[in-house]
Amino acid sequence: MPALPLTDFHCHSVFSDGVLTPLELLDLAQQRGVRQLAITDHDSVRAYSPMLTKQAQQRQIALVTGCEFSCVWQRRNIHVLGLNMDLSHPSLMQAMASQATARQSRAAKITRVLQRLGFVLTLPEIQKLAGVGSIGRPHFAEYLVTSGQMPSAAVAFKRALGSGKPGDVKADWPSLETVLGWITNAGGVAVVAHPLKYKMTLTKLRSLLDDFRQAGGQGIEVLTGFQAPARVNALADLALRYELYGSAGSDFHRPGQPWAELGRLAALPERCTPIWQLWT
Ligand code: AMP
Ligand code: MN
Ligand code: MN
Ligand code: MN
Repeated sequence: MPALPLTDFHCHSVFSDGVLTPLELLDLAQQRGVRQLAITDHDSVRAYSPMLTKQAQQRQIALVTGCEFSCVWQRRNIHVLGLNMDLSHPSLMQAMASQATARQSRAAKITRVLQRLGFVLTLPEIQKLAGVGSIGRPHFAEYLVTSGQMPSAAVAFKRALGSGKPGDVKADWPSLETVLGWITNAGGVAVVAHPLKYKMTLTKLRSLLDDFRQAGGQGIEVLTGFQAPARVNALADLALRYELYGSAGSDFHRPGQPWAELGRLAALPERCTPIWQLWT
């Protein structure tokens, strides 16, 4: 059997909460021998351009379009990756505009919540720090750390921004079904991102996968960053049980995080059908 091409279908650029530009991601991917790459910014596809496509071709990297969509399923925030979408599809362009608006209004709400808690910050300061990136909670964490109001980003999430904390403002994210509609209308494939990060019971996770399939979802991240082999196995079992293609992504945001390094992924278990078979 030929060796599978080294694939990374989940990483972030400066257009969301990553630190590398799309071109820097391409360079790093090339250094690491990645042959298939998708840049999956949170609710944005601004990383993609004709120039990037050309640069990827020069590096013999198959660049697949991607986006990590925020959505809501049973009052929980779920992340769904859209892969291989037509970025010029009107429904997708509209979706991107609506996600950008939702993110911006959530950022204003998070600012007010943190101010009420006694933190000193303004929305323009956060936007300045985010640069070209759409504002996410990591930007708030970074601001609180650099301004000396929190000792570390981890603590900022634990005390103020993480799941269930006041800064985890319930945004007006669309439903799972809406996001799957956007992805499939644009000819793409939907993948449940990091399924074990939601800390659901197995019963709950199965129920999510039932609904996900029902809505036209086709893939599940079996490899997500560094994971214990038992977890990879559990995800491979779910992929088989729900007849979902297996995807692989590091969730790389910045260098120096060994649990999420670009292109550093275990092999997809042989019993999984790789999602890239759909278009290669
Ligand atoms: P948002 O897109 O604004 O909902 O922020 C979610 C992002 O925050 C994730 O993609 C991670 O990059 C980051 N994140 C979530 N939880 C934590 C945490 N506990 N510590 C550091 N970063 C986190
Ligand atoms: Mn992120
Ligand atoms: Mn995510
Ligand atoms: Mn991600």
